[in-house]
Amino acid sequence: MVRKIMKDTAFLSQKAEIATAEDLPAAVDLLDTLRANAAGCVGMAANMIGVNKRIIAFDNEGAYMVMFNPEIVKSSGLYEAEEGCLSLPGVRKTKRRQMVKVRYQNENFQTRLKTFTGWTAQIIQHEIDHCNGVLI
Ligand SMILES: [Zn+2]
Repeated sequence: MVRKIMKDTAFLSQKAEIATAEDLPAAVDLLDTLRANAAGCVGMAANMIGVNKRIIAFDNEGAYMVMFNPEIVKSSGLYEAEEGCLSLPGVRKTKRRQMVKVRYQNENFQTRLKTFTGWTAQIIQHEIDHCNGVLI
């Protein structure tokens, strides 16, 4: 189900809670909502659809990927980026890393480790920030 985009910064500034298998329907809604906003959005965190759980969905080089409870365990290559956010007006400057190694759980709640670089790494950092209540 496509949900409305949350724009309440007080809600978005909360640290999201651990996601469990009970949150799988929320992940489906997150993907539906991301697809519906594909023209202007490459990634989304569950709190952006009003679900304060640690779930992100993003465009991984042309295929959507969902992560539960993602965590950056290693990163390198600091640079300055400009980003927009569907929940916020305008474009803002932020600092990102060129490479991130992420520990997360997949849809079967199996723990996985994966390294991302460049644009995909940047999207993931933005969405993990959302999980931590950090806005650009
Ligand atoms: Zn955002």
